Amino acid sequence: MKQPVDVVPPVTEHANCPVAEEHDSPVRPTYLRLSVTDNCNQCCIYCRPANCSTRQIPPLSLGDIRSIVNILARAGIEKVRITGGEPLMREDLPEIAHVIASAPGIRSVGLTTNGVNLARCAHQLRQVGVTNINISLDSLDSVMTNTVVMRGINDGEVPVIAALSRDLPIETRFIELMPLDGSALDWNTFFVPAQEIRDLLGELVPVPLTGISTAKTYQIPGAKGCVGIIAPMTEPFCRMCNRIRLTCAGSLKPCLRLSATYDMLHIARDPRADDVIAALLEHSQVMKQRTSSQTEASLPVISMFSIGG
Ligand code: SAM
Repeated sequence: MKQPVDVVPPVTEHANCPVAEEHDSPVRPTYLRLSVTDNCNQCCIYCRPANCSTRQIPPLSLGDIRSIVNILARAGIEKVRITGGEPLMREDLPEIAHVIASAPGIRSVGLTTNGVNLARCAHQLRQVGVTNINISLDSLDSVMTNTVVMRGINDGEVPVIAALSRDLPIETRFIELMPLDGSALDWNTFFVPAQEIRDLLGELVPVPLTGISTAKTYQIPGAKGCVGIIAPMTEPFCRMCNRIRLTCAGSLKPCLRLSATYDMLHIARDPRADDVIAALLEHSQVMKQRTSSQTEASLPVISMFSIGG
């Protein structure tokens, strides 16, 4: 008979956990964002430190990734998005993608990239099972574009970027700037709230939600594509969140807004790893549901390039 398993204590405590409130039953985590490196070939001002030299965190090995993804797949993860840092900085990315796509239970493998080195391995990634690729594009042909909106830097381009969705069947997504560690920007100066982004876009027709999504989706009337707005700061989507994250050093981060992290390399060596993970994920989902409004002060100190944006 299975022994009951206590939730393992997090490596870091819930120092910033907001006050509990009534919640619906949590959605199950099914989506893993996996950071395979904190190294990057770009130095986006909202993401990396000003002197953005290569960081020294040894990334997870192919073997580590195989065992961790297998455990998480057995715990219910079905969809993995490979991110970073810049995932294409890893020479063994096709092997990593293959290992993930081959894990029993994994139905979808995606990649988020700045696209700089994509041409040289896009075909190979497709062959090993990568089915969708998001290309980050902060200024002006991908299926989906992500733009972090920054006041005085690119907010003037929001209507032009969104207009791409008029003629092309693409989704142009706009993301609220988050106050992250490592950003060279003063958040208070450069933050543009979702409502102001919508105001910049003029008439928008809401698109009904068809599944779990962090984005609210709209259409410019008559457009072939759509516009997504992701507002982690002013319109948080915790109740809809089915994602967890794994840093390139092997720390599992069930929620961006909670400081708790768990050492997956340690857990993977535990003979009861499956039970430990199941209990941990259940506990984490309950913690997530306790968050509601988000203020800058309630965000733990995190850097997107190391936890995987
Ligand atoms: N290098 C890849 C890329 O450029 O897409 C993947 C990693 S990057 C950290 C992923 C995404 O994180 C970026 O496109 C951006 O949308 C998001 N990001 C980084 N810093 C952010 C911030 N301060 N606020 C909001 N989103 C941020």
